[in-house]
Amino acid sequence: MDDCIFCMIARGEIPTHAVYEDDRIFAFKDLHPQAPVHVLLVPKVHYTGLNSDVPEELLGALLAAAPRVAALMGVADSGYRVIINTGPDAGQTVPHLHVHLIGGAPMSEGMVKLA
Ligand code: 5GP
Ligand code: ZN
Repeated sequence: MDDCIFCMIARGEIPTHAVYEDDRIFAFKDLHPQAPVHVLLVPKVHYTGLNSDVPEELLGALLAAAPRVAALMGVADSGYRVIINTGPDAGQTVPHLHVHLIGGAPMSEGMVKLA
């Protein structure tokens, strides 16, 4: 999508701190990190969110990239959380499917939203 910020980032049109890339997935540091490690993983192809009939294979690739990113960021063993905000009540602000990978510090059990 031409005017989607995460499409532009995945295409390399906007400078970002990339941490991982494969043929389908791009991962980069969140602009406003909520934890010492806060990375966003996105499919290179545009889908608005989880409700967008995303092919299961692509969803699998997106999730499978998370432990690779966690290892690259040094949090595979200390632990990390993956979150996909979907729609307004969840606080999704960017309408391009993305996984938050956060870690690097202990998180509270009650944390259900990034804010
Ligand atoms: P959401 O609330 O949609 O689940 O999360 C969107 C995330 O994207 C937020 O954590 C926000 O900080 C991040 N974000 C928004 N615009 C940009 C940007 O231009 N670059 C980067 N690296 N992160 C962004
Ligand atoms: Zn997009």
